[in-house]
Amino acid sequence: MVEAAHRQGFALVGFALLRRLDERDDFYRRWLQDGRHGAMEYLALGPERRIDPRTLDARFKSIVSLAYPYAPPQTAAATSIDWRAQMRGRIAAYALGRDYHDYVLNAACAVAEAIADARPGAITRAYVDTGPVFEREWAAAARLGWFGKNTMLLNRDQGSYFFLAEIFTDAEFEPSREPYREHCGTCRRCLDLCPTGALADGYVMESRLCISYQTIENRGAIPVALRPKLANWIFGCDVCNEVCPWNGDASSEVNSKDLIPFLPDLLALDEGSFSRRFTGSAVKRAKRRGLLRNVAVALGNTRNPDAVSALARSLDSEKEPLVRAHAAWALGQIGGVDARRVLEAARARESDDSVLAEIRAARKII
Ligand code: SF4
Repeated sequence: MVEAAHRQGFALVGFALLRRLDERDDFYRRWLQDGRHGAMEYLALGPERRIDPRTLDARFKSIVSLAYPYAPPQTAAATSIDWRAQMRGRIAAYALGRDYHDYVLNAACAVAEAIADARPGAITRAYVDTGPVFEREWAAAARLGWFGKNTMLLNRDQGSYFFLAEIFTDAEFEPSREPYREHCGTCRRCLDLCPTGALADGYVMESRLCISYQTIENRGAIPVALRPKLANWIFGCDVCNEVCPWNGDASSEVNSKDLIPFLPDLLALDEGSFSRRFTGSAVKRAKRRGLLRNVAVALGNTRNPDAVSALARSLDSEKEPLVRAHAAWALGQIGGVDARRVLEAARARESDDSVLAEIRAARKII
């Protein structure tokens, strides 16, 4: 079965006995009570299902935890360009290319089939970010690595650039018993260098501050105080991976069009062109209105007067008030005579209150 997993592309395989994760109980319930999950209400639905997977199916006895590596970000290439001058955005490395939910789940299902072949009648259920599963906790229990201060699972050889998958089964596997030592030590780079301070001591992630959360899971307005900190991230963020010494100087070749997309082009995407460009991509999760909202913020963060015309078009003809509102904010950040003229014209014809509020706020700071 381990060979089958490697053949499917999984670099790491481990086993754990299925049990109630008592050690996560208090932490998780407190995290939810503190509202740190933001608008991700699905995380608060029946926490017991996550803490004790036997509530999903009492017959499960073991979990097979799997790690599937993905291409690390091309950090040097992405940071060597002047993104403000060139108006280029960034997408988190995991979301470049095909949506991992599809191909990693297929690979996990193939491993599940191998289990059923070897143990006829075995019940298996595979997950890849597709159910109420504490993926990192189970991966740590299966000794794939340690739970890092950046709240990722880290492995000495693989760093943290991998997807996790799990197979719950009633088949019994010898658990991986060799403890995996924690290797963060005194390092706190991820905590100190997170642009929004989303990571706190005690392995706490404040989702509402996380750039990934704001650019993907938040469906509404991005808090004004956070917008400048998003820099040019338009879908997800890699900072706490990039700064981690365990990822070394990992980098890979990717299509530069995907790596550093031209922001004005993205702001001009209609439903059809958005769908065509991001079919089969994880970026679709943000939906067009979410992605264009992020693009507007990134254009504002360029402070580049060349962005005014794209933002003016958006403020004039974009159908989504959410996007128009962020375009107005962006024009306020860029400032200057042209941006002010665009805002004045928009104020005269705009009827949406949320957009008008952003226009008023933007005019005040120009
Ligand atoms: Fe741990 Fe340092 Fe990596 Fe953060 S950056 S996860 S503290 S090793």
